[in-house]
Amino acid sequence: MGKKAIVVIGSSNTDMIIRVERIPLAGETILGGKFHIAAGGKGANQAVGAARAGGRVTFVARVGKDSFGDQAIAGFRRDGIDVRCIARDASAASGVALICVARDGQNSIAVASGANAALSSADVRRAASTIRSAAILVAQLETPLATVRAAALVAVKAGVPFILNPAPARTLPSSLLKLVSILTPNETEAQMLTGIPVTDERAAARAAQILRGRGARTVILTLGARGAFLADAGGQQLVPGFKVKPVDTTAAGDIFNGALAVALAEGRVLLDAVRFANAAAALSVTRLGAQPSAPMRAAIERLMRARPSSHQ
Ligand code: ADP
Repeated sequence: MGKKAIVVIGSSNTDMIIRVERIPLAGETILGGKFHIAAGGKGANQAVGAARAGGRVTFVARVGKDSFGDQAIAGFRRDGIDVRCIARDASAASGVALICVARDGQNSIAVASGANAALSSADVRRAASTIRSAAILVAQLETPLATVRAAALVAVKAGVPFILNPAPARTLPSSLLKLVSILTPNETEAQMLTGIPVTDERAAARAAQILRGRGARTVILTLGARGAFLADAGGQQLVPGFKVKPVDTTAAGDIFNGALAVALAEGRVLLDAVRFANAAAALSVTRLGAQPSAPMRAAIERLMRARPSSHQ
């Protein structure tokens, strides 16, 4: 038997990216940016992030019967991802995201979910035995909440740890949070879930405490360049980020989650897993695009060796 799989369930999109001087305001048109097409979608980014970080990955998803879907699946195969749980939808197009990336690395994104919105409990049932035998299940919120919940229930009943990346930001019922082993909101998502603006470490601690009180066993709040705030039954601490020159922060959180799953599936303790995830995500912000920015294992380890004990 090889190592157990990381099962990622979630969205796959084709990202249409325009580089702009700054994010356009409502009603404004901006000229002059370069255009790229890249594979994206939070679920797919996390699956690819995990595969490149060294994980054995199965991706549970739904794409259209169109060329974007073909290209997405071909990309997953190139990364060695098991694609047998990806359904082809005859009646919905593959998901698409329109992304603006500003010179300072900020982004704005609009998504047409397409087939992602049709990922259903029936798809989860088809993947149930795969989920039950997984090392860990990872999900986000670009696919229907009922589907996320169905997958979480299968995992929890089988004793499989469940990482929920609550992105994009929305409120969540405590009944779902109670199923979560590790919740990984960014600052915006933490504020949406708790009402607390996460402006500093103390606010992060308060938000994490509320989320743990609502049922999430461990909370890892990602804080952009500052790194991540880790809170569990054993205590809480800031795990500093790695200092890099940001080019495009798209998918930083996704790469963080994929790498986190890999480290945990390998049996690393939480703190080491968060450091590994910080390193992978830092590398991803130095490159343009979602999946193209996911670093390989060797690069992650090189960064960690170069800066073993501190972020500077
Ligand atoms: P999201 O991409 O979901 O908005 P964050 O911005 O919190 O999430 O970023 C996720 C993780 O990516 C952070 O916890 C950190 O490890 C890493 N990261 C993000 N931005 C930077 C940066 N400018 N420099 C170094 N690491 C970064």
